[in-house]
Amino acid sequence: DSSWEGVRAVVAGFGVSGFAAADTLNHLGASVVVLDESEGDDHRREQAHLLEVLGADVRLGPGTTASLPGDVDLVVTSPGWRPSAPLLTEAAGRGIPVWGEVELAWRLRGSDPAPWLAVTGTNGKTTTVQMLEAILQAADLRAQAVGNVGTPILEAVMDPEGRDVLAVELSSFQLHWTQSMSAEAAAVLNLAPDHYDWHGGAQAYAAAKGKVYEQVQRACVYNVADEATMHLVEEADVVEGARAIGFTLGIPDRGMVGIVDDLLVDRAFVEERATSAAELASLSDLDDASPHNVQNALAAAALARAHGVPAVAVRNGLRAFRLGPHRISTVAEADGVRWVDDSKATNPHAARASLQAFDQVVWVAGGLAKGAAYGDLVRDARDRIRGAVLIGADRELIAAALAEHAPDVPVELADGADADALMDSVVAASRRLAHPGDTVLLAPAAASMDQFRDYAHRGDAFAEAVRRLGHS
Ligand code: ADP
Repeated sequence: DSSWEGVRAVVAGFGVSGFAAADTLNHLGASVVVLDESEGDDHRREQAHLLEVLGADVRLGPGTTASLPGDVDLVVTSPGWRPSAPLLTEAAGRGIPVWGEVELAWRLRGSDPAPWLAVTGTNGKTTTVQMLEAILQAADLRAQAVGNVGTPILEAVMDPEGRDVLAVELSSFQLHWTQSMSAEAAAVLNLAPDHYDWHGGAQAYAAAKGKVYEQVQRACVYNVADEATMHLVEEADVVEGARAIGFTLGIPDRGMVGIVDDLLVDRAFVEERATSAAELASLSDLDDASPHNVQNALAAAALARAHGVPAVAVRNGLRAFRLGPHRISTVAEADGVRWVDDSKATNPHAARASLQAFDQVVWVAGGLAKGAAYGDLVRDARDRIRGAVLIGADRELIAAALAEHAPDVPVELADGADADALMDSVVAASRRLAHPGDTVLLAPAAASMDQFRDYAHRGDAFAEAVRRLGHS
């Protein structure tokens, strides 16, 4: 593709997706400048050196992102960058297009592109695209889950081996910068407060999520129990003939997928006369049949059916699927107490789903709130919370919600000089609060980066501290 020769592109941010964008654009013949305020670690300096050898101009360090170079045709930005970053507002002011890596990947799809089945939502994205990948592969398709999970989307799109179909996980950050994407089918799993700080409020967050439905070709999949997702479908501009398909934990109307007795059934993608419903799978086929994971399975099934996958592949795929780590995984059981790591519950909506899965909980929570509020969560869950152990920068918000809505719940604060010491203190406090039959549940309802590298580090530190206590 010679159309990239001489295009002057700035890559803003040099993380995983920044490197992929810079490498790809450079390879295509664009003249690439990479900018990042941080010089990064050895690995990153190696990557920078590699790009420089290949002809890119990599500028890392304080001050490098203060303004754009003089001649620029395109800016490709990283998900970590807020739209309010001076470099990006300058680009907007100068009329220079700003793309995210997803927009770049969409435009570089090549001549015989694999269709995209896109998944977004506040929670359940990774689980759903992985379920979808398993279903598509059970149908003997060369399918891959891409996006925030594992393989970067650019890498999959540029791979000469090709794919039949992609299961694409999209964050609200990535969707904010998409313009021309036209998925074969797309789902918004749910919509709840998260990342309001990045987007600048609830409306902007919802609008970003809603972009996943723009120009959808076949099916917009929405959550019947979450009206906001249906409204996003109504507002979207889709290709003529595209349908709205709801998923529900109840008995599905025509045009929906849902549950009848213990079966996942499809009343949307069935031949008109032949049958009125197709049996897709049984709840016992699922690795975990908590309500939120049944919803994820229904959404994945609807997307696969929109692509034309037979019912039997839905069953086989869901049977093969296993939940990823740090998503409600039991790390120990001792003295009648179960210790559960759901570190991936990084916002109140996820923590609510998690708390609903247990009867009596010692709740370990706190971290970076990202603009979230905790009143509703605590009010909903207060009958299940036996005690709370709070950590992190914004724990006062959770403490205040507990004081207001669950004043009888004992609360302990845990601190430590490092991640391990902190989790030792968490585990000691939890053991004081827990009775036989209780679950100690790490479902922080907040991001981890104030005290941990990421949610996985937080979950691992918790599990190790539980083990140090002599439980394993
Ligand atoms: P994401 O990729 O959107 O962060 P994950 O599949 O990694 O989603 O799940 C993150 C957490 O969100 C899980 O640990 C669980 O607590 C919760 N969760 C998963 N699916 C749902 C859902 N459909 N609704 C509400 N909460 C969910």
